[in-house]
Amino acid sequence: MSEVQSINLITKATDPIYIGTGGYTIGRVDNTIVRDPISRIPKIPGTSLAGTWRYFMALQLQSYFKDEYRSDRKKRGEDYNPDHPDKKIDYLFNKSVDGWWNSIEGNRFAALNCAGQDDYPNMRTMNDFEDERSRHCGNCIVCKSFGYSKSDKSEQGLLSFTDLNILFFPVYTRKGTKWITSESILQEAGLIPSNQAKDEEVIFVNEEVKEGKFLNLGWLNLPMKKQTLKFGIPNGCELTNNQIVIVPDHLISQIINSNLEVRTSVSIDPNTGAAKDGALFTSEAIPRTTVFYGKVHIFERSELKHTDICNALCDSKQYYESLGIGGMTTRGFGRMKVQINCIGVK
Ligand SMILES: [Zn+2]
Repeated sequence: MSEVQSINLITKATDPIYIGTGGYTIGRVDNTIVRDPISRIPKIPGTSLAGTWRYFMALQLQSYFKDEYRSDRKKRGEDYNPDHPDKKIDYLFNKSVDGWWNSIEGNRFAALNCAGQDDYPNMRTMNDFEDERSRHCGNCIVCKSFGYSKSDKSEQGLLSFTDLNILFFPVYTRKGTKWITSESILQEAGLIPSNQAKDEEVIFVNEEVKEGKFLNLGWLNLPMKKQTLKFGIPNGCELTNNQIVIVPDHLISQIINSNLEVRTSVSIDPNTGAAKDGALFTSEAIPRTTVFYGKVHIFERSELKHTDICNALCDSKQYYESLGIGGMTTRGFGRMKVQINCIGVK
């Protein structure tokens, strides 16, 4: 077993994010989102992250292939018979891109199908080269990083994603928007050392306040105290010290859940173009500018190093800014900025 490297992820929503539970109605909301079962705080599950990132990495890898390589699969089959791997790999790749991606031998077998579900897991990894059917190649960095299973060979993925939990959550107050967090969230994110939570009925702000002053967080009005932040705000949060408010641990779930974005929509009748009768529904979502944290654990195997996989994640993360994560991405949901730091990965 090789060494594992853990890399921090910070993401900031640029759209509201909707990751549905499917089929539950709670209170007035029909389409509810995924929550932590213990704290009831909404989150982005690691499974959503792994699924989208696999697809984005495959998209990025495909973007490096030459057009003639993609369109002329017959030629590819003749020239790149895996039993005779004597041809130079850089034939396949756009010279102008000149990524490190072409240094990984297995990448030349990649297909866009390496991203999705493998419909033919009973086929061998590299036998039928001209087969267009949906299958995993079992050789490229996407298959190696996220895992695959074929009749002749299967390997577990080298990546493991944790859930993305909320680190800073925006709440509108009379002093403008503040981003709330709590001591236990900061501890879990590794930003402050663990200590006994005070859990007073008071919120801490990073500025001078007069005795007896209150701040409203949504409907909740709480007394303020000054406390200088004892941690550095991670890169990617794009927040200043004065925008952060630390609230008691026992209240944060309550405050987050009462400040989610709730939308009411209606289905359209395609025949009339007007609203369908009885088709009114509500959805909730995590509001934009929410900051999440999580980790990705990277294993390594002889042919793939930590740095290769981390670079592949870095190079493909920009798709989160355009294609997004979760549901309703065609209706302005799901986009976020991802911060991942490969410096220091060996
Ligand atoms: Zn593959």
